[in-house]
Amino acid sequence: MKKSKSRQTASRHNRSLPLDACPSCGTMMVEKRKALRLPVNGEEVTVPSVAHLHCPQCHEMVLRFADSKRFGEDAITIYRKKHGLLSADELRDLRLRLNLTQAKLCQLLGLGANTISRWEAGRNVQTTAMDMLLRLIRDLPGSIDYIREHHQAAA
Ligand SMILES: [Zn+2]
Repeated sequence: MKKSKSRQTASRHNRSLPLDACPSCGTMMVEKRKALRLPVNGEEVTVPSVAHLHCPQCHEMVLRFADSKRFGEDAITIYRKKHGLLSADELRDLRLRLNLTQAKLCQLLGLGANTISRWEAGRNVQTTAMDMLLRLIRDLPGSIDYIREHHQAAA
């Protein structure tokens, strides 16, 4: 089953256009950079230099998978700086200092199980309110114990 699937994929690739060909007109595209906007938490963020492929013939623009991933991560980094939010590294540091797994911190804060993982990977970003709560946990001794006790009392 697995074998026939990979053969299909390979033959499809053999038939397809070259990797950098324009999907609209087939012209070879060229690598360029330009400013693009992306909404983050409902706000348009401008990323100044986004790598992409540009068609000189019909002006089609294509973001390769890696370009698109990088674009999203850059937009989130810019958003974090603009709003003074904790960076992905600062989030990871404060969690490790508390000796908590990503899943455990999600549970204590009432977040979805993969939320912290996405914040630390730069694929998503915390709200301003959650950022404030995380700062309190980091800077006020006993905060995390308070949250733990609240969970125990509620259980
Ligand atoms: Zn084209």
